[in-house]
Amino acid sequence: MNIPFLSFDYTNKIIADEMQQAFTTVFNSKWYVLGKEVAVFEKDYATFCNTQYCVGVSNGLDALILSLKACGVGKGDEVIVPSNTYIATVLAITHAGATPIFAEPDESTYNITAEGIEPHITTATKAIMPVHLYGQSCDMQTIMQLAAKYNLKVIEDNAQAHGALCHNQPTGSWGHANASSFYPGKNLGALGDAGAVTTNDAAIAAQINMLRNYGSAKKYYNEVEGYNMRLDELQAAFLSVKLKHLESFTALRCQAADRYHALLQNADEIKLPVTAKHCTHVFHLYVIRTKQRDALQQYLNSKGIGTMIHYPVPPHLQNAYKHLGYSKGAFPIAEAIAESCLSLPIYPGIEEEEIAFVCDSIKEFI
Ligand SMILES: *Cc1c(COP(=O)(O)O)cnc(C)c1O
Repeated sequence: MNIPFLSFDYTNKIIADEMQQAFTTVFNSKWYVLGKEVAVFEKDYATFCNTQYCVGVSNGLDALILSLKACGVGKGDEVIVPSNTYIATVLAITHAGATPIFAEPDESTYNITAEGIEPHITTATKAIMPVHLYGQSCDMQTIMQLAAKYNLKVIEDNAQAHGALCHNQPTGSWGHANASSFYPGKNLGALGDAGAVTTNDAAIAAQINMLRNYGSAKKYYNEVEGYNMRLDELQAAFLSVKLKHLESFTALRCQAADRYHALLQNADEIKLPVTAKHCTHVFHLYVIRTKQRDALQQYLNSKGIGTMIHYPVPPHLQNAYKHLGYSKGAFPIAEAIAESCLSLPIYPGIEEEEIAFVCDSIKEFI
């Protein structure tokens, strides 16, 4: 068997005709930047997230940067972020000129919690950036209560959890400004780079609208020092097609996760994903943990099974952040996750026999 870590075969087949049609429509429209397709996608994704506004932007990192800027985060501000996130969340903070303050995640969900965040709050704290890691929503209700208590902004990193819920409310709708990535491999993925900010705050939406387009609301009149961080018409048209299928594709991911769970339940020394009460998981990734991670990964590879590590080096130990002055041992939970996590193949269209083969191979290894 050859089971890739990620495959677009099934999803691409289902959407092929609609995607061709989307291309033809944009091509024939002769309008390629900030037009009808972006507006339509923004409206539909705002509805999906249950927010009043959505602003399409160039990618997830830019969505995070613009969200911080629109929330007034800058030099001298501290922003609390999980110690085990993807580097982009931290890059957004430092590119905005602020200082990342790392909070360790909960050891079973891998997400930060209000209890874990609170001890890090100082007079310099300006914002909290919860990351819905691997596709599971953070407990946003308690995080929003904490933020209200200390008058802090909340910026959700919703790159991995499109459609996940906390108390039946979608990720991307809780914080003051929330960033989604539509990198091709994400649950909702474009055919290239794309992202969006969702918010219920009209002023934040207006600010991001300007910032993404040279700081201009009216062509050639620049109100603020902006950027070129726009979403393309073509990517927006592709995303509108894929958004219509997202619910059914997510259901297939969850089915695959259930299957893994059933088959691996009794596997010794393998820690399975845990979904918290009141939260849902859309299984962007299915991450297991084991002390023998590297050997298991090698063994699975020898059997034709693709796996990945999310992520091998936590942000505080990256060369890019040497100047922050952290060394090994600073964030033991994040470091332990980095040393033991392994992401198994999961995507809409992965077959039951393939999952069974992965699980049998894991048990053989043990
Ligand atoms: C993918 C990802 C990003 C960045 O998104 P890009 O579109 O690649 O810039 C940010 N945060 C997390 C958690 C991600 O997984």
